[in-house]
Amino acid sequence: MIDTYRHKGLRKQLIEIVKNKGITDERILNVMMNVPRHFFMAKGFEERAYQDNAFPIAADQTISQPFTVAFQTHLLNISIDDKVLEIGTGSGYQAAVLMELGVKLFTIERQRELFNTSTMLLKKLGYNPFTYYGDGYKGLPTYAPFDKILITAGAPSIPEELLKQLKTGGILVAPIGPRNTQEMIRITKIDDTKYKHESFGKFVFVPMLKGTD
Ligand code: SAH
Repeated sequence: MIDTYRHKGLRKQLIEIVKNKGITDERILNVMMNVPRHFFMAKGFEERAYQDNAFPIAADQTISQPFTVAFQTHLLNISIDDKVLEIGTGSGYQAAVLMELGVKLFTIERQRELFNTSTMLLKKLGYNPFTYYGDGYKGLPTYAPFDKILITAGAPSIPEELLKQLKTGGILVAPIGPRNTQEMIRITKIDDTKYKHESFGKFVFVPMLKGTD
C-alpha cells in the first residue's frame, strides 16, 4: 500500500469539504490529513476513499463518512492521553484518527473478519491500540473507567453498562435510535447518578447488535 502525492491531494480536498460542512477544529482536520483513508477501504472501493461518504466494508458493515468521523471526534472533546473506548472498530479508520490525536485507545468489534483485518492493518500502520473481539454492549470492565466512550454503530437505547464504565466528568458519544435513523447524543457524567444529555441531530449508522458473529 502506498500513499502517493495524488492521494494526499485528494485528501486535502476532502478535508476542505469536511471543513465547509462545519468542522472547524484544526487539530481534527490536521490529523485527518495524516490518515490515508484508502488503506481502510474494501477492495474495489479504494478509488472512492476521498469522497465524503460511507462505503461498504466486509461483513455487511460500513466505513463511516469522514464528516461523521470528524463530528463524533469533535463531540468527544479529546485531550492527549485520554483513555478512550470505541465500540465498533470496523475498518479501523476512526480508531486511527483518535490515535493520531494521542489517545490511549481500546476498541471492540463483534465481527471476527473485521476484527482480524483492522487489528492487522492498524498494527502495520504503526498504531498501538488494544483491539478486542467481543460484544461492545459489555464494554471492557477490566480496563474501565474510561475518559471517553465512542459508539460508532446505531444503538436502540443508551447502553447502561457503558455509562458505568465512564469516569466522573467523562463523555459518551453515540447515535441512539431505531434502525432507519438515530440522534447523535452526547452524555457527560456529572456523578454516578447525574448525567448531562445533549443532542446533535440525525445520522444513520449500521445497527449495534448484541453478541458476536
Ligand atoms: N468505526 C468504524 C465504523 C464501522 S461501522 C470505522 O471507522 O470504520 C460500525 C461497526 O460496529 C461495525 O463494524 C459493526 O460490526 C460493529 N458493531 C456493531 N455492534 C457491535 C457491538 N455490539 N460490539 C462491537 N462492535 C459492534
